[in-house]
Amino acid sequence: MTEQATLDLNSSQFTIDRISQEVLRRLADLQPAPVVDDHEPVPTAVNGHLELKTPIGISVRHVHLCPEHVEILFGKGHSLTVYNELYQKGYYAAREQVMVVGRKRCIEKVRVLGPTRPFSQVELSQTDALMIGMKLPIATDGSDPACQPITLVGPEGVVTLPGNGNGGAFIARRHIHLSDDMAKRLGVKNGDLLDLDIDGARPTTLHGILVRVKAGWLTEVHLDTDEGNAVGIRSGQTGTLIVPQK
Ligand SMILES: [Zn+2]
Repeated sequence: MTEQATLDLNSSQFTIDRISQEVLRRLADLQPAPVVDDHEPVPTAVNGHLELKTPIGISVRHVHLCPEHVEILFGKGHSLTVYNELYQKGYYAAREQVMVVGRKRCIEKVRVLGPTRPFSQVELSQTDALMIGMKLPIATDGSDPACQPITLVGPEGVVTLPGNGNGGAFIARRHIHLSDDMAKRLGVKNGDLLDLDIDGARPTTLHGILVRVKAGWLTEVHLDTDEGNAVGIRSGQTGTLIVPQK
């Protein structure tokens, strides 16, 4: 091999090494940043308060059932089956549906949400309540004494929820799900009330968003269909949570 040929070979090897290094470097740049808690928004400080871009879920009328009521409505030994997973991990819309019996009318095919709970409860919008001729309180869950008695009909049986703090019908209070980590970062606790700014064609601020905290929850505001329609928001859109700093 001539001296010139050796030089050429060395220089082409050098070029290949350079290209390989460059390709590896660019591939490394393309790797996504390590995910801390997938899709969780990051609070930003604005004029002395914190703002958090928050996904909004619109809750359509639904029912939660205790295991005993699942068996009465759908048959002995029956358990709920998954229709589709909800945004919150471990929660799902079930295949099972029931008829909700009001004073003036019934609503058929009301979706059951899983998993089962200690108490059964029916969450309707104000529009639903008016349609079926019932006056319902705004509440957080079926343990609220203001919840109203209501009857559910399934393919295999009927149950009447007694109300009075032992499961019943109500209109869900607007709320936000937060993990304990996110609550700590925001400096809020269970039961606090916050504001949510809504942009778009119907810009609005919703007050009194109830904070609910549980380890593992993803950040998500829940409104009902009346609230979503009133502010022009559909599931999956976002609002801005305003968190005052004391
Ligand atoms: Zn919720």
